[in-house]
Amino acid sequence: MKRLVLKFGGTSVGTTDRIKKVANIVKNRHQEGNEIIVIVSAMAGTTNDLKEKSNLISKNFESKELDVLLSSGEQVSSSLLSGALIDKGVKSRSWLGWQIPIVTDNNHTASQIIQIKTDEILKFISDGGVAVIAGFQGITKNGRITTLGRGGSDLSAVAIAKFFETDSCEIYTDVEGVLTTDPNIHEKAKKIEKISYEEMLEMSSLGAKVMQPGAVQASMIEDIPIHVRSTFSDKPGTKIISESEIDYKKTVTGIAYSKNNAKISIVGVVDKPGVAADVFEPIGKNNINIDMVIQNTSLDGKTANITFTIKQEDLKKTLNIIEENKQIINYKKITHNDKLAMVSIIGAGMIASPGVTHKMFRSLANEQINILAISTSEIKISVLILEDMTKKAVKILHKTFELN
Ligand code: ASP
Ligand code: MG
Repeated sequence: MKRLVLKFGGTSVGTTDRIKKVANIVKNRHQEGNEIIVIVSAMAGTTNDLKEKSNLISKNFESKELDVLLSSGEQVSSSLLSGALIDKGVKSRSWLGWQIPIVTDNNHTASQIIQIKTDEILKFISDGGVAVIAGFQGITKNGRITTLGRGGSDLSAVAIAKFFETDSCEIYTDVEGVLTTDPNIHEKAKKIEKISYEEMLEMSSLGAKVMQPGAVQASMIEDIPIHVRSTFSDKPGTKIISESEIDYKKTVTGIAYSKNNAKISIVGVVDKPGVAADVFEPIGKNNINIDMVIQNTSLDGKTANITFTIKQEDLKKTLNIIEENKQIINYKKITHNDKLAMVSIIGAGMIASPGVTHKMFRSLANEQINILAISTSEIKISVLILEDMTKKAVKILHKTFELN
């Protein structure tokens, strides 16, 4: 007998008909003789609707109350699925985060799971019941409801797999698995059979939306293999596993992109220790995420320019912060661009094959795509380009690295 975690995303439980379909999948897996814990997201669109309501009340809606509000979406879907299972003759019960409890820290709207109590649910599933757990939510030691960040039911699934020591963690979604790139911008996107935790972490952080980056990171740290698969077909999906279990035949595994990036250049700062810290400290304190950073020294060696990228939505705020700190940073001028995209090639196969960098740059150049900034790691190369070049760049890179 195996113990499985099956997580169903928002589209998979998006309508009552789909919930009935999910109940059939769960029923079948249960009848195969497995112990089953199901995690559900809110029905598609629900969390966004709730968030919008809070915005209508206040732009600074209190985070503790926001968590109470947002977590209600998963209360609805977990009860509907459990009810559907009972209707099909399967013993089932829903659990909300606080009922288990799933204990988190008190970093509201982006909490981390600390502990999950297992005895009650273990008894229920060993007695033949299917446990349905509301994803995305927990409770603090002080009894306040928390949520795990957008897309956080993926993290719930990984954490449940860990604390319940399950044999598998399956993420059911509306695509056939993790694809080589976004099928909405390239029709040649193909399912990846196996991908390492590290590659998946890059893919999801750099724009692929199948899984929450935090959940991928947790699975990597705990070495919990994940199977991302479709709710709407029986075919195997993508296995996210340890790199050592993959035999790399290609240098690049996938291509990710993110739009809505902006770039700021601070021109003419003094080239001495502490300047970069002076620039990024106030930005970091305001919770603004920085992506790429480039510093170059001027010819005289006395001044430098610092260029970095952020999300477009943070541009105004970041410019204000820099201007407010003009005295401390001491720069000549700032320039900025928006409507930029970051396109990345990702692949552990890159480690062992030289020449990937120039191949990437040459193929972009052949398409007249100008590179504004570059950042690399062992398993990825990202370039910053004009946003309206995204599709062209993804297509040519997909072809260059033999993913078509
Ligand atoms: N319902 C939450 C969200 O939309 C959590 C999730 O779906 O994973 O972000
Ligand atoms: Mg999701």
